[in-house]
Amino acid sequence: MFKPVGSRVSFPQIEEAILSFWQKGDIFKRSVAARQGGPGFMLYDGPPTVNGSPALHHVFMSVFKDVIPRYKTMKGFYAPRIAGWDTHGLPVELEIEKQLGFSSKTQIEQYGIDRFNEMCRKSVYKYLAEFDEILRRVGYWVDFDNAYITLSPEYIESCWWAIRQMWDKGLVYQGYRVTPHCPRCGTSLSSHEVAQGYKENTEDPSVYIKFKVTAKSLAKLHVDKPVYLLAWTTTPWTLPGNTALAVAPDAEYVLLKGEKDYLILAASLVATLKLDGYTAEDKIIGKSLSGTKYQPLFNPHDFGVERRMFVTEGKLQVQKPVKKLEYRVICGEFVTLDEGTGIVHIAPAFGEVDFEAGKEWELDFVQPVDLQGKMIGTYSFAGKFVKDADPIILDDLASRGLLLRREIVKHTYPFCWRCETPLLYYAKTTWYIRTTAVKDRLLSGNEEINWYPEHIKYGRFGDWLANNIDWAFSRERYWGTPLPVWRCEKCGAFECVGGLDELKGKPGLTNLKEPHDLHRPYVDEITFACSKCGSRMKRVPDVIDCWFDSGAMPFAQNHYPFENKLMMEDGSFPADFICEAVDQTRGWFYSLHAISILLFDRPCFKNVICLGHILDAKGEKMSKRKGNVVYPQDVVKKYGADALRWYLYTASAPGNPRQFDAKQVDEVSRSFLSTLWNVYSFFVMYANIDKHEPSSEPFTPPEAELDRWILSELNQLIADVDTLLTDYNLTDSGRKIESFVDGLSNWYVRRSRRRFWKSENDDDKLSAYNTL
Ligand SMILES: [Zn+2]
Ligand SMILES: [Zn+2]
Repeated sequence: MFKPVGSRVSFPQIEEAILSFWQKGDIFKRSVAARQGGPGFMLYDGPPTVNGSPALHHVFMSVFKDVIPRYKTMKGFYAPRIAGWDTHGLPVELEIEKQLGFSSKTQIEQYGIDRFNEMCRKSVYKYLAEFDEILRRVGYWVDFDNAYITLSPEYIESCWWAIRQMWDKGLVYQGYRVTPHCPRCGTSLSSHEVAQGYKENTEDPSVYIKFKVTAKSLAKLHVDKPVYLLAWTTTPWTLPGNTALAVAPDAEYVLLKGEKDYLILAASLVATLKLDGYTAEDKIIGKSLSGTKYQPLFNPHDFGVERRMFVTEGKLQVQKPVKKLEYRVICGEFVTLDEGTGIVHIAPAFGEVDFEAGKEWELDFVQPVDLQGKMIGTYSFAGKFVKDADPIILDDLASRGLLLRREIVKHTYPFCWRCETPLLYYAKTTWYIRTTAVKDRLLSGNEEINWYPEHIKYGRFGDWLANNIDWAFSRERYWGTPLPVWRCEKCGAFECVGGLDELKGKPGLTNLKEPHDLHRPYVDEITFACSKCGSRMKRVPDVIDCWFDSGAMPFAQNHYPFENKLMMEDGSFPADFICEAVDQTRGWFYSLHAISILLFDRPCFKNVICLGHILDAKGEKMSKRKGNVVYPQDVVKKYGADALRWYLYTASAPGNPRQFDAKQVDEVSRSFLSTLWNVYSFFVMYANIDKHEPSSEPFTPPEAELDRWILSELNQLIADVDTLLTDYNLTDSGRKIESFVDGLSNWYVRRSRRRFWKSENDDDKLSAYNTL
């Protein structure tokens, strides 16, 4: 007798019962263990950052990650898989700063790094419990009990080992150069973080500034009025740092005569500027302008930071200038004539091109902005945040007749990916990983990876690798894996520590307390003796990019190489499959790939599904601020996890952005799950009336055409789904199953009903039962 089922059913209730059956019977672990000895299949679980409650996109990724290893398990593969949690970095710190109402690093330090980090830790564990709950609820089969967690001392130690490996190969260095810097967070960011924070249509000033040529330089121009070099910028706050103007050496410039003065700009851009009252007086070739001196817009000594940049023996030196500062025209191949005036304002303290020009031309270096993004000195804009200083600087220039034109431009500008503060490109000291040293291998390694959708391989990801720059990976922050580099107070030598035992073996070691908490501020107190001069070594206070943590998971999840030494042989490296959202091409996919190539000279994943973003029903990004966030718990409570999962698999191709509407989940529940359920319910009802007992013997092939048809459909379905899932195509597999269920219900059962209704139990009825 089958257990009677009604046509009214609560899928969420059935799921709860199944979940408790799984839990009591330890079904997931047994499903893995039962395949031991079979061919291996490895999933790497990309760790979600646990800085807030789990959102719909976390469920989206988890259910996609879930299907492939389950399928492989059904095919006899041994597929152990463990969950992971990303617990460090700016996302977590910012959450705590919000709670405490902090807006600067000074407040954190006054509050105490120990207390601050303790709050970070607590917050992580709180959200982690929520993640654990919802991901179990939607039936994500991974080992949650042994999940890896990036804040554990073991995990940190594996990261230290990795950094030390790179250090020994000369791939870690400290560089003084222009780095994207978040003035609010007070830290450098890497290019992959910057890539995640661009905002289109950002409004900025677009201004034309007049730089007055000095009397001495005028001599060769034969003029009777003041002459100005006209330059264009969208960042007026960089103007106090100006120390040069660059022209295109081979372009034609023009001297325009006006009523009161002369202007110099590129000939080809005169028309676009529509300068009334000016007429062309003379033509000048770019390179003949080189060396022309002009007066600074502001008194550089007011900012106090003046140096001259020069390179000796390939090394950049930045020193106090011996002579007075010099403002002159230089030539630059980077000067284009697409927009502006053909004269580029150069402030070596900001921007990569400017900085490089500073090195090449031994320019003066004036830094008018501090690390909080505030203007320094005594001008009226002093103390203001750079973007707020813009209008004041422009008013000042206008009052002195140095502002020709003031407009607004809409362009794309980078913002901090966490706190949304506009980023500054700022010359400073940062620690780098020399990823450019393995750029060719990063590219050739990508050839070995299968991407779904395919276009990511040479598109988003391939482009990203082709334009690789060194990884700025130190963060002047608090809650993160500490940079394992110590510096001698006396001779300045650096030492990189690759593990706890190594640290314990250091001569003169102090303050390593048990049990080990490797976080700040405890790790900052650990000192040892310099191997060169015997003086005290103190840790460089930086922590590292949290993307390094997550990218280190292939080995750090198993505390390699301190444990699990056989990683390379036992099938746990590389992964057969990973799956995350498409923005991870510049996040986790990149950090995984870069670290793996740097350490092991081979890629660490073979197949990757990139999922599109989830938008709200109207196609807008979900955000707490807009109040349009859909919480997965609510959807699951109402429609069940299966309906949500099925909708996510089948509604659209995984790579496309999708507009999420809970009504569509309801629709899936009705059209697919309920249909299947009704077929089952029909079967059970009649099987019980007829006391039908299914036999374990193979049944005789049916005679009825309808039976043969549906069995043929079924076998075709099995073959199709098998092929599709082998090719990581979940959406078409799901859709095939849907269309089969539709045929089963609307053709097979509808056409066969009478066969179940008849009173005699003949062969035809038996065949119908057996088939269904
Ligand atoms: Zn920030
Ligand atoms: Zn020393």
